[in-house]
Amino acid sequence: MQFSQRLQEIPPSGTVAISNLVNQMKGEGIDIISFSVGEPDFTTPQNIIDKCAESLKSGFTHYTPSMGIPELRKAIAEAVKAKNGIPCEAKNVLVTPTKQALFMIALAYLNPGDEVLLPDPSWVSYEAHIRMCGAVPKYVTTKFDDGFVIDPEKVAAAVTPKTKMMVINSPSNPTGCVQPESTLKGIADICREKDIMVMADEIYEHIVYDGAKHYSIAAMPDMFDRTITVSGLSKTYAMTGWRIGWMIAPEADIKAVNKLQSHSITCCTSFTQPAALEAIKGPQDDKKKMVAEFKKRRDLALDLISEIPGLECNVPGGAFYLFPKYDAKIASNDLAEKFLMEGHVAVTPGRAFGPAGEGFFRLSYAASESDIIEGLGRIKDIMRSL
Ligand code: PLP
Repeated sequence: MQFSQRLQEIPPSGTVAISNLVNQMKGEGIDIISFSVGEPDFTTPQNIIDKCAESLKSGFTHYTPSMGIPELRKAIAEAVKAKNGIPCEAKNVLVTPTKQALFMIALAYLNPGDEVLLPDPSWVSYEAHIRMCGAVPKYVTTKFDDGFVIDPEKVAAAVTPKTKMMVINSPSNPTGCVQPESTLKGIADICREKDIMVMADEIYEHIVYDGAKHYSIAAMPDMFDRTITVSGLSKTYAMTGWRIGWMIAPEADIKAVNKLQSHSITCCTSFTQPAALEAIKGPQDDKKKMVAEFKKRRDLALDLISEIPGLECNVPGGAFYLFPKYDAKIASNDLAEKFLMEGHVAVTPGRAFGPAGEGFFRLSYAASESDIIEGLGRIKDIMRSL
C-alpha cells in the first residue's frame, strides 16, 4: 500500500517518540524520571469527574450537535469574553479537542504553497499540520536573550505575498514565554496591514505566574475577524485524556470548519460536555491550587538548574516548561539520549521544536518535587561529565 504524499511530508512527533521510548524502558523495569510529558500530573478535579459520571449514568451517551451542546458553547463564549475580552457569542464557538481544532484549521485554510509564520522554537504539531497541507512553515526566530519574545520586526521581514497565516502560542510550549501586549499589538498591526490571518493557540492561558498577564490578540481592534483562537481544558483542569477544547472565530468560519468536524469526529464525546460545563462554571479552587503548585515546582527547578554547570535558563511567565540552554558541544538529540540512557531522565531535545531549539532542551516540571530534585541531580552529574 502506498502512502499519500501528504503523509510522507510529515515526520513522526518528536515528543511522542520520546514518550514511547520512556514507556518501553519503564516496561523493562527501568526507573525513569520523566520531564518529557506535556500534561499535568494531577487528577481531574472531583466535581468534574462526578458530573461526567452523572451524565453517563443518566444515559447522555449519544451524538450531540456537531458544534457542541448549546449550554457549553454559551458558557465558553461568556468565559472567554469576560476573561480575554474577545467579542464572542455562542455562535462563535466550536467545541472540539484542541489538537483537532488546530488540525482542522490547517485543513480549512491552507493551500499548497501558502506560507505560515510561526515562532521558532514552537510546539511540534504546527509544522506537521502545515506541511501536511502542502503549505510552507516560515520560522521567525526568537532568542533566549529576549526571553523568547517575538520581535514584530522579524515578523514583518518574513512576510511575502504568499503569507497566509501567523501562529501565536502564548504562553508558549516549549519556552513558557508569555507574549507581552505590545508584541501582540505589533503583530496585529502587521497582520492587518498585510491581510494575514492569525491562529492564536492559548491552551496555557490560565497557567501564568508572577503577575504575568495573558493577552488575546483576537480582542485587539479589528482582529476578531481575522483570528481563530484555540484553547481547551486539558492543561487548565488536568483533563488531557478527556479530549475537549474549542475554537473561537467569526460565525461563518465556525460553520465552515464544522464541515470538517461533522465529516470526521462528528462531535466531541457527549458525556464530557456537561463535565466541561462544570469545569468552566463550577468552583475554580482546584485550578488555582494547581497553578500555585506549578509555580512552586518551577521555582524549585530553576534553583536547581542555576547550580548546574553549563546550564542557563530564563524565568518563564507561564505554561509548565523550562527551556534551558546548555553550553556543551553536543546536539540536543544526543544530549537528550544521553540523559535518558545514562541518567534515566527523559527530556525533549530542543531541536524537536524548530531550528532555534538546537542547544536547548525542554523540561516539563509537571512532575513531583521529589522527581524534580532527583532528576535534576542526575542531569547535574551528566552535565559535569561533559
Ligand atoms: N497546543 C499546545 C501548545 C500544546 O502544548 C498542546 C498539547 O500538548 C496542544 C495544543 C493540544 O492540546 P490537547 O491535548 O488538549 O488537544
